[in-house]
Amino acid sequence: MDSLAYVDPELAAVIKGELARQRNNLILIASENYASRAVMEAQGCLMTNKYAEGYPGRRYYRGTAWVDRAEVLAIERCKKLFDAEHVNVQPHSGTQANMAAYFAVLSPGDTIMGMNLNHGGHLSHGSPINFSGKMYKIVPYGVRPDTEQLDYSEMADIAKKSKPKLIVVGASAYPRIIDFKAVRELADDVGALVMADIAHIAGLVAAGEHPSPVPYCDIVTTTTHKTLRGPRGALIICKQELAPAIDRNVFPGTQGGPFMHAIAAKAVAFKEAMTPEFRNYQAQVVLNAKALAERLAENRFDLVSGGTDNHLMLVKLLKEGITGREADETLERAGITLNKNMIPFDPSTPFVTSGIRIGTPAVTTRGMKEPEMVQIADMISKVLRNLKSEEVCSDVLSQVQELCDRFPLYPDLT
Ligand SMILES: *Cc1c(COP(=O)(O)O)cnc(C)c1O
Repeated sequence: MDSLAYVDPELAAVIKGELARQRNNLILIASENYASRAVMEAQGCLMTNKYAEGYPGRRYYRGTAWVDRAEVLAIERCKKLFDAEHVNVQPHSGTQANMAAYFAVLSPGDTIMGMNLNHGGHLSHGSPINFSGKMYKIVPYGVRPDTEQLDYSEMADIAKKSKPKLIVVGASAYPRIIDFKAVRELADDVGALVMADIAHIAGLVAAGEHPSPVPYCDIVTTTTHKTLRGPRGALIICKQELAPAIDRNVFPGTQGGPFMHAIAAKAVAFKEAMTPEFRNYQAQVVLNAKALAERLAENRFDLVSGGTDNHLMLVKLLKEGITGREADETLERAGITLNKNMIPFDPSTPFVTSGIRIGTPAVTTRGMKEPEMVQIADMISKVLRNLKSEEVCSDVLSQVQELCDRFPLYPDLT
């Protein structure tokens, strides 16, 4: 008997609805992906029952032999995948990984230099409404108005003036390659530590599609559920000398018992990430983003920085006279799920915005390639240029259905 359907038919129906939504829409949210059945099986496993505060071989609880093996597998695979000296696989989320990392190297009131949220940074890099902005003095850096890209010499000037203890580099909405080596060099000039948050690009980094920050950074944090395509969660990579401080500040510093089921699923994801299929997948994610961006540009849309080097792009809608909120609302009705996003120097507010963010990781997992990206770009263009037309909306919706049917998702799930 299907026990969930039996015990809780109401919730079982909700999950079914979500499966249909994931299947029948084009998911272009740059931070989302479809984990494999193997990853989800591990994430839904009985290791959820086990308390294992501490680390493998030094737990505060008995009965940890098997979960120790799961965590050691995750750690060893992750070290190999990223060529890391030390890894902590326990952080429950990206924000919690960043919190533990800050606690490991900073005291309250210390200065962090972090990327401006409106230019692509993340809440946990110093937003005033996040713990990071409340606990630390934040000095922001951003992109140049002309190139809409990071300017490492400007970052060097800001670092010289503000003398940060930590420079955080990494973004949620930056379409270009990040030069971690340049950041290391400008940090060394002022004696700052460097932390890279590769939550978005971890899969690209693992596959060699984006330069790795690991050789240049004191700490690297990432989520495991975005391009890396693992379970919802995070991890921290660091140099050996920071290992005790990082581990102490994950547990007991900021977390209690580890989610052993999530750690088991991370181990599976790291194994998958070492396969040639995964490397091909990440290469296709980048090719698909390029194809989509090029077609949008051909359709006369303005892209932040003029294009993309990674898995995402930002479309500027000011010239179109529409807001990000109007765009993502209408696109959702047409079966295309993406998010409104602030663009650099956005005159609007985060709830309305003047842009949208588009990412290719999820549709690439479904098997779509360049021809489908051209089709998707054309559908987006059509909806945005005919925002008020119900006819265009329903026409695109039926094209989306056709496309989704051609690239089945989780075919054996019911
Ligand atoms: C998504 C993201 C995070 C946070 O991840 P959560 O798991 O949602 O807390 C942190 N940093 C960056 C750059 C991100 O894009």
